[in-house]
This record gives sequence, C-alpha cells and structure tokens, in this order.
Amino acid sequence: MTETIALPDNAIEVRGLEKTYAGTKKAAPKTALRGVDLVIPRGSMFGLLGPNGAGKSTLINILSGIVNKSAGTVTIWGRDIDKQPRDAAAALGVVPQEIVADVFFTPREALEVQAGFYGVPKNERRSDELLAALGLSDKANAYVRALSGGMKRRLMVAKALVHNPPILILDEPTAGVDVELRRQLWEYVRKINAEGVTILLTTHYLEEAQELCDTIAIVNRGQVVACEPTPQLLRRLDTRNVVVTPEGELDGLPTVKGFEVVGRPNGAFAISYKKGQSSVEQVLAAVRAAGVTIADISTEDPDLEDVFLALTYGDASQVDPTKD
Ligand code: ADP
Repeated sequence: MTETIALPDNAIEVRGLEKTYAGTKKAAPKTALRGVDLVIPRGSMFGLLGPNGAGKSTLINILSGIVNKSAGTVTIWGRDIDKQPRDAAAALGVVPQEIVADVFFTPREALEVQAGFYGVPKNERRSDELLAALGLSDKANAYVRALSGGMKRRLMVAKALVHNPPILILDEPTAGVDVELRRQLWEYVRKINAEGVTILLTTHYLEEAQELCDTIAIVNRGQVVACEPTPQLLRRLDTRNVVVTPEGELDGLPTVKGFEVVGRPNGAFAISYKKGQSSVEQVLAAVRAAGVTIADISTEDPDLEDVFLALTYGDASQVDPTKD
C-alpha cells in the first residue's frame, strides 16, 4: 500500500463507540457496545479478550465496515471511518471467524481474485510469496475444496494480506484449529508483527491472549473492563484457590488468619490467595494453625468468568445485556 501520510502513532483509535442492534417483531433491540474507548498502538500485538456475547465481533465488524455503529468515532490508520471509509478499510486485513471456501478456485486464483478486488496492480501482487509463507506452495493449483480445514484457514490469512495492509485482524483464529496449525499460525503472525504489522486478535481464551499479545483489553457486556500490558494484567489475575478437605467433620468453617474461607460441598472449604503475595505452603500453614488436620488439597486457577467477575465486581453496569 502506498502511504501518503506520515505513519500514525496509533493503528486504531475507538472513542465512545456504541452499538444497539435494532429490534425485530420477535426480538427486542440489543445493545452490544456501551461506550467503548480503545487505542491500539502501531506495531502492537493486541488481544481483545472476552466471553461469548461480550461484543468482540460487533467491534471487529464495525472496524471492517460490515456493521454500522450507533455512536462514537473510529479511526483506522489515521482515517476516520465516516469520512474516509474506503481508505480506512484498505488499511485492514481481516481474517473472519468462519472458514469461507472459494469452491471453484485454486488457492493461487483465490489470491489473485482478492488482489484484483483490492486493485493491486499485477506487478505488485505477491500470491506466490504468500502461498509459500503460509506453507501452501504445493497446493497452489489444487482446488480449494480439496484442502484440509487448516489449509483453508491459512489461505484465509493469505487472502487478508494480499493488499499488504498495515493492520491484520484475526477474529477467533484458533476456534476448531489443531495444535500444529495453531503453532504455525502463531509463528507467522509473530513474524509479520516483527516486520511491523499491527495485529488485533480476538479470543475467549486467556491463555491464547497471554501467549501472544503484548497488550490485552478485556471486554465484557459491551464494555472494556481492563486494558493493560499483558504482564501487568496477569499480575492482577494471579488469584488461585486452594481447596482443602479436612480430616473428619469440622464444626463450621475454620477461621484462618489472613485468609478468607469459603465453604464447599462435602465439608471442604476454599481459600483464595495471590500467587505474588503468598504460597500454597503459607496457606496450608495457616490452615493447620487454625487447628485443622488436612486430609486432601487441590489447587484451582481462576477461569475467565472469575476474572471478569473480579474486574467488574461492584460495577453498576453489570446488567443483563439481554434486557435492553
Ligand atoms: P462476541 O463476538 O464477543 O461473542 P458479539 O459481538 O457477537 O459478541 O455479540 C454481542 C451481543 O450482541 C450479543 O448479545 C449478541 O447476541 C448481540 N448481537 C450480535 N449480533 C447481532 C445481530 N446481528 N442482531 C442482534 N443482536 C446481535
């Protein structure tokens, strides 16, 4: 892509973004985004993390011009999507969630058609380079319908990159993807990120965002509830639970100095602690000091739901989004 403006500091800027899907005869209107502010610096590997229904796809679809926003502003690569929609869209390569197979094309043809769609001149096309980069050279002339699911997904990444966009959006890229493909995909994504492509990745797996992204924004119920450099966010999320099954039956929950105790079924109880502040050993010592003989213990990492609850706890906006 030829740049006529200086490189922007931020690849994407979203301010006060709101989206309410109009209702139908059968369904009430639904608010999917409630005032989202998001700044994605140029060159970052940015993770948009949230449970199903959080609003991630709505946000991605607004960025890519598929869904109209209800309010707010969006700037992509310095271009306002209301004022320069085509230029804004040209700065994006989007790998959608679902595999869209071009049944009648070979991978090379699919890339050529896509490049034509973006108006990339023939001498600037790089179909073979992309096929090679994504391990599809030996399938260049096969029918797309004959490719495995993993190969189709890699072809979709290649298609998103034909016009050499400075920003690549991957929407839930590893849903239903096997471990080997995931590794290959990440390797390639890391490589192009190192070459300067800004990556925006949506996922509902904390692990995935954690492994790849330098910054993570957590979206829940249409709002950004956290947006921090990954290590900082992980420190906030380092709560673990120790579940203790006591020997014999206790007379109610024990009082464990320095820790909160929550009852569990069958006489067990759970104690949560911060990995950065205490160790399992300290928790167990405190339990023994409370006069409890331990029969069994197990530890639990918080799941994403716990994390969202922790981050949104006490927030008045914790309303049921289906009730709009
Ligand atoms: P995510 O991608 O995080 O799973 P979505 O953006 O798909 O979340 O959905 C956010 C909310 O908007 C959900 O409550 C969903 O049911 C609703 N929603 C999404 N798309 C539509 C649509 N086309 N019409 C009505 N409601 C929608």
